[in-house]
Amino acid sequence: MSILVTGGAGYIGSHVARLLEERGEAVVVIDDFSSGFRSRVSGQVVELDLGAADATARLIDVMQEHGVSAVVHLAALKDVAESVAEPERYYRVNVGGLGHLLEAMRSAGVHQIVFSSSAAVYGAVQDVVVTERTPCSPINPYGQTKLIGEWMLGAAGDAWGLRAISLRYFNVAGAGWDDLADTAATNLIPIVVARTRRGEPAVVFGDHHDTPDGTCVRDYIHVADLARAHLAAVDTLRCDDGFVGPVNIGTGTGASVREVVTEVSEALGVPTRIRIDDARAGDPAAVVADPSVAAERLGWHARHGLDAIVRSALGVVRA
Ligand code: UDP
Repeated sequence: MSILVTGGAGYIGSHVARLLEERGEAVVVIDDFSSGFRSRVSGQVVELDLGAADATARLIDVMQEHGVSAVVHLAALKDVAESVAEPERYYRVNVGGLGHLLEAMRSAGVHQIVFSSSAAVYGAVQDVVVTERTPCSPINPYGQTKLIGEWMLGAAGDAWGLRAISLRYFNVAGAGWDDLADTAATNLIPIVVARTRRGEPAVVFGDHHDTPDGTCVRDYIHVADLARAHLAAVDTLRCDDGFVGPVNIGTGTGASVREVVTEVSEALGVPTRIRIDDARAGDPAAVVADPSVAAERLGWHARHGLDAIVRSALGVVRA
């Protein structure tokens, strides 16, 4: 029996695939290589675009050929600004791709899925600490496609007994292995690392937010911890009466933009340089996960804090 990892050549998916392989699981990776790299994958890999017209038939073949018993689904587009500019593409790939995957799973008799969801499903939260009972009201097409994905899984559960755990990632960063590091630099930590290395000041979006130092607070989660959460979810689904539903994946501790910038400059051994810019439209002041469901239902908790995340992002220390 094997585990299918969609998006397994991507930043997060490659960490999940490698961790599964390290503990002796048979893994099949699917990726369209639109943003993933072949160099990140070592085992079985099938090039396949989940949004393609023939994707369902090809997925059924892959599932039957490899004896797939569970799917970890990460293949998706994830750039918030791009999703606002190109909502149709985000819906086609993220929602349409999941539709093909679920049709194939139903046909092939695969009943377990771990879904890559996001704290973006919550939208502009009022309370700092977010639980899974916090109302979902996404404010961009990216977050909408993730929430729709969760609804699709619930509907498939009702219709044919699919068992799904949706991991709502908070702010993912760092690297578990240097060769799997994030190369996109679209989020705060890689952006600040890149700017600091170039000798440029970090740009801070607003310093008058309602937080202790005025800069936004987020819950940064090490990608190696996040990958372990996927394995814990796979194990939970293997128990017939195990938990299904959404789970926050964060540390429960927030860090401000200013703290992140300080951590990066200390790790690089240079003075902290900051340029304050306008606040970003719609940016909530503080978003921190309540990770207690992950602890209770998956037996998972984060092991790494901000310093380990930043140091691994610099390629200094492995997780
Ligand atoms: N941010 C910033 N400067 C940057 C990039 C991001 O001040 O160059 C802030 C952003 O306003 C947010 C936090 O850093 O408060 C994390 O942003 P990111 O885009 O990484 O993730 P988000 O929480 O928005 O999904």
